[in-house]
Amino acid sequence: MTILPILMFHGYKDRYADDFRYLSENDYETKHLSELISFFLNPKETKLSEKTVVLTFDDGLQDFYQLTFDLLSKYKLKASICIPTGLIPNDKTKREIERSECGIHMTWDEIRALAQEPLIEIIPHSVTHTRLNQFDDRIDKKSQLEYEIGTSQRVLFEKLGLSKHPEFFCFPGGAGWKTGEEVNPEERLVIDVLREYKYQGALRAEFNVNDKWNQYCIPRWNIDRFPTIEEALLKILEI
Ligand SMILES: [Zn+2]
Repeated sequence: MTILPILMFHGYKDRYADDFRYLSENDYETKHLSELISFFLNPKETKLSEKTVVLTFDDGLQDFYQLTFDLLSKYKLKASICIPTGLIPNDKTKREIERSECGIHMTWDEIRALAQEPLIEIIPHSVTHTRLNQFDDRIDKKSQLEYEIGTSQRVLFEKLGLSKHPEFFCFPGGAGWKTGEEVNPEERLVIDVLREYKYQGALRAEFNVNDKWNQYCIPRWNIDRFPTIEEALLKILEI
């Protein structure tokens, strides 16, 4: 398997100042997912620089806007932020009350401001942040998937005035599946819905060494499991 380090971040941590400086000083090249479509479709045949890294930030948390983005800008690092559209408050004064299980979120105005920044790419992370294998059995599963996968895409496109619909989806709660085996009917349905909305890829939370490549279950590494980004990259590139 061809390894591309796609790192998963959540809330801000002070150590990111050192981590981002390390990327900059060591000439790592951050890319948006949308710049890597040919790699995701055909990872074996697509040559990427060994210094390519993707930084993804889940859940649209307030501290991304207040702290992380400044640091990324300082080092001119690109990032993809994953937004659970149904959890985003309109009003700054209400965000404490509207905090979700993920934390306190940015407002739509803040996300709209970030969407104007060339360093930032915004992708959907579902509407309600329900894991895609934890749906209500009484309701048609396909329509629930269409809501989480399709509506979150449309809401970002419309609310942010994007030039095209996002082509990558980020699974909430990390729910992807193990791809070492043939996909089962439930997974097939998720893939069918992702295709219906013309997604080119979908991100899961974790990586397993034996996983087979699947563009709709792209592995990521949780940065918080490593003491530094340097150690994370060394480990990942060793695989
Ligand atoms: Zn999340």
